[in-house]
This record gives sequence, structure tokens and C-alpha cells, in this order.
Amino acid sequence: MTSETTPGLRERLAQGPLICAEGYVFELERRGYLQAGPFVPEVVLEHPEQVQALHEEFVHAGSDVVQAFTYYSHREKMRLVGKEDLLEPINRQALEIASGVAGRNGSLLAGNVCNTNVYDPGDEATYAQVRSMFDEQVGWAANANADFVIGETFRYLGEAELALAAIREAGLPSVITLVVDHDDAMRDGPALNDACQRLVDAGADVVGLNCSRGPATMVPLLAPLVDAVDAPIAALPVPYRTTTAEPTMQSLRDPWAAAVEGTEEDRAFPTGLDPFTCTRHEVAEFTTAAAAAGVQYFGLCCGAAPHHVRAMAEALGRTPPASRYSTDMSRHAYFGTDPSLRSNMREYRERL
Ligand SMILES: [Zn+2]
Repeated sequence: MTSETTPGLRERLAQGPLICAEGYVFELERRGYLQAGPFVPEVVLEHPEQVQALHEEFVHAGSDVVQAFTYYSHREKMRLVGKEDLLEPINRQALEIASGVAGRNGSLLAGNVCNTNVYDPGDEATYAQVRSMFDEQVGWAANANADFVIGETFRYLGEAELALAAIREAGLPSVITLVVDHDDAMRDGPALNDACQRLVDAGADVVGLNCSRGPATMVPLLAPLVDAVDAPIAALPVPYRTTTAEPTMQSLRDPWAAAVEGTEEDRAFPTGLDPFTCTRHEVAEFTTAAAAAGVQYFGLCCGAAPHHVRAMAEALGRTPPASRYSTDMSRHAYFGTDPSLRSNMREYRERL
């Protein structure tokens, strides 16, 4: 969290690119503290130390932003798991954990709202319901002195507009990121670039893409998006090896998984995505390509881990604290070049 004299979102972006590490749901699921399927972040109340630790790992790796882990701790998800009474405590606790880490590190504190799974463009009664869900979460973020609020993973422009309106009414800057899957358009019709410009016209500070697509299938969208939209552009892919045929993490198919599990199901999402994970080198390559396209707000979504974030920071020319441990193969026993290494070890390298 920044004080009144330190720069906020707009000022930081004017100085250079920003990095916001995301992917808390997947990473805490992988670590054994969150259930795949419902994906409700009960870990915030049950194991707050794990949430705090992941925030700290991401900052150590180069994230400029601590995103409060309130993703999917909205009224609909809490209802789904029968814990609506914990709605306010879970939001307040997530913000308090993130605020502590941001304050200790001079990072920006972001509140967070996301797709409600309630919004239906054909049912106007859902609009007010969704807006009130955003209002309550954004209100808690404002109470916690968030520097800005991220509204993310929206497939409907109409839902994104409701989130933006709630954030604007609270007087906070906003980052609004949309999801495109197989088609480069929103589910309620507008093309991606038009949807983003409409959000800017409605007052969004940063707009762009997050989740679903991997680097290979997000990069081609970025230069046209930067050209079409009059605001800083955000790009936060999932670090998975998506392809033209399988452009999203949900569409990736793994025949090995079907063989091992003995089922017909070969969809890797969500718990069999490991073999598709991008290396840190691919993340660096993405970062360089996105920067060349004009992206200003960088990050990674589901599947991201601290080593990916460090690679992103280093590709932007930075040396976060974790760079103290970046690779030095010159002193590797078999593959190194240090003259003190024994030749009988180096000579064996091709037989390893
Ligand atoms: Zn994601």
C-alpha cells in the first residue's frame, strides 16, 4: 500500500512498466490448500500464512503489485460452498494480509473482483444483483486503502462495465482485464478491441487481457489492441503452451493423461496441465514480445509460479531480490566452465 506521497497506479505506469503476479487460486491448489473445482479461496481464513507467503514470494520475484486474494470470494461462490456468512470476514482478511505485505515492501495494494457466474445479458434482473456483489467487495477494498482495484476474467463486456462502475463510484483507479477464448470477441458481442475502448471511454485506467490463453495465443492480439485503444494495455496470460488448435488452457488435450487415468477424458484442465507448463525462458520470450507490442502492465495468471515472475522481471531489465539466485551454469559440476572443475566430470556431460 502506498502513502499519500508515494506514486499510485497512474504515476507508476507513467514511470515504466508494471508487473502484477496473479495465479493464486492455481498455485495454492497445487500446494494443497485450496480445492480444485469450486476454487473458493477458503485458504485465506484457514491458512492465512500460506497466502502471505505466496504474496511475499511474488514480490521477492519482482511483482510490483500485491493483489489481495479476494478472487472468487464473492457472494455467489460463498453461497455455493454454504459459507455465505464468511463473505465479509474472508474479504477483510485477504485485504489485511495483502496490505501487510504491500506496506512492508512499498508495493501497490490491489483489491480484486472477478466474473460472478451470475451475470446473464439476457436477464436484466441479474444486473443489479451483480452490481451489488461488486459494490460490497469494492467497498471492503476501499476500506483497506487499496491503491486500485483489478476487475478481471470477464467474458461479458456488460459485466466488466458493472465492475468498472462500482470501482469508479468508490473513487479508485481500475485495471479491467477481459478473457477471450476461441474467438477474439466478448460473449455479448463486441470485438475485443472495441470492448476495451468502451471500458476506457467509461473511465478504466488500464484495460487488456488475462487468463485462459497462453503466451503463444495471446501475443498476436496485443499489437492490434495497443493500436486500437487509448490507454495502457495489460497482458496476463496463463503460462501454458496453448496452440492455434487449442488456444486456451481449458481446451488443451493430453493423450498421456487419458492413457494413465484409463478414461476417455483427455482434457488437461484443471489438474492435468503440468506437462503444458511454460518454462521461465518462454515467459521471458513472451515478456519481450509483449513489451515490443507496447504492453505496459504485465503479469501471469493461473499456473504462474515465482520463477516465472522473476523471468518476467528480468526480461524487463530488472533485478528483483530473487535474481540473487538466478542461474549460473558456469559452476555446474558437469556443464560448467569454471577452470577448477574436474575434467572427468565435464567429459561425462554427454553421457548423462
Ligand atoms: Zn487465470
